[in-house]
Amino acid sequence: MRVRNGREFLSIPGPTTVPDRVLAAMHRPAVDIYDGELLDVTRNCLEGLRAVLKTEGQAYIYAANGHGAWEAALTNCLSAGDRILVLESGLFAVTWGGMAEVLGLEVEILPGRPRRAVDAEALEQRLRNDTSNSIKAVLTVQIDTASGVVNDIPAIREAMDMAGHDALLMVDTIASLCSMPFEMDAWGVDVAVAGSQKGLMVPPGLGFNGVGSKARERRGNADLVTRYWDWEFRDGPEHYMNYCGTAPEHLLFGLDESLKMLFEEGLENVIERHRLLAETVRTAVARWCRGDALEFNITEPGERANSVTTVRANGIDPAPLIAFCRDVCGVTIGIGIGPELSGRAFRVAHMGHVNAPMVLGTLSVIETAMAALKVDHGEGGVDEAIRFLGTSLEGSLQDASVSPVPGQRCCDA
Ligand SMILES: *Cc1c(COP(=O)(O)O)cnc(C)c1O
Repeated sequence: MRVRNGREFLSIPGPTTVPDRVLAAMHRPAVDIYDGELLDVTRNCLEGLRAVLKTEGQAYIYAANGHGAWEAALTNCLSAGDRILVLESGLFAVTWGGMAEVLGLEVEILPGRPRRAVDAEALEQRLRNDTSNSIKAVLTVQIDTASGVVNDIPAIREAMDMAGHDALLMVDTIASLCSMPFEMDAWGVDVAVAGSQKGLMVPPGLGFNGVGSKARERRGNADLVTRYWDWEFRDGPEHYMNYCGTAPEHLLFGLDESLKMLFEEGLENVIERHRLLAETVRTAVARWCRGDALEFNITEPGERANSVTTVRANGIDPAPLIAFCRDVCGVTIGIGIGPELSGRAFRVAHMGHVNAPMVLGTLSVIETAMAALKVDHGEGGVDEAIRFLGTSLEGSLQDASVSPVPGQRCCDA
């Protein structure tokens, strides 16, 4: 028997659900790339990205996924043989470091603590020992999508400042932008990397760099720079230079619309919505963890991300659970990824275009699957999640500061 017909939920940590408004904005003929409305769309997107990143610096848009934006950040600032320090906290920063190695950089990994966020004190110590300033850049992620950890970026910046080190700080915000606060300038981030398909609610295919003045100046001496990723070329006077070729028009129409949606809701409200829904998920998971089969991957509650929750399976194979949710009920949750978590975890995304029914529906389906498959779990997780969310939303109906968002009430769940 199947109960999946109806709107299906994609609850994986990227790509995320694309709002109907964004899909509709993309559903149109191609336009001129040299003149006309596309020039305004580019301007809006660049301005919107700078507003989302909270920077007065430059923004760049690549027809690429996140890996492309990673490569752009590295090649514009660094030269072959430069040493960089990668802060391990799961899978993604280390993967970024792997790309750097192929580019000819000297990659050092600051080992992470198991199932914890980056240790800022260990970073400070390592940088203090680098008396010759041989480390040219520090690479970190704000949220690691595999482990489900959130790193404290201001603490990392402070550690660098305390050590008096002048390395660039490069931060991957792909899984955190628009899910939690990020303040590129105020936090002293030199390069921010982002992508379209997670909190920004656009299909995969756009990668972004936010670039502060110190990083932009390093471009002058970087010998890894290539024409396609080159910030300088992209600052050129012709519109096509912004993209080093044909603009990815339809993705830009989508991004223009998604940025409008974010600003209509208000970035603060977007972030608070993510916090509440993440806490709703954690409330259910905490209850489930009273049984023997499940456990939060991140041991420290304050280090759990607001965009994705990674749940470890102890002594059970999570594959049937994931398959039941998808094949029987129409909800796709994430698999565990990376050497430590592949085949040993599942991930629930709460990122981007998500609301209470989507999150509660997803949690209910997971609980249904656990009942059907007789997974040893603490019962009543969804009940408790509902109580948490209900209590948190007391008085919301009277809250005049949250006006209804026009045009959102189309057929997406
Ligand atoms: C998804 C993700 C990436 C990779 O993005 P791609 O678009 O798949 O290249 C990198 N870093 C983080 C933190 C991510 O969540």
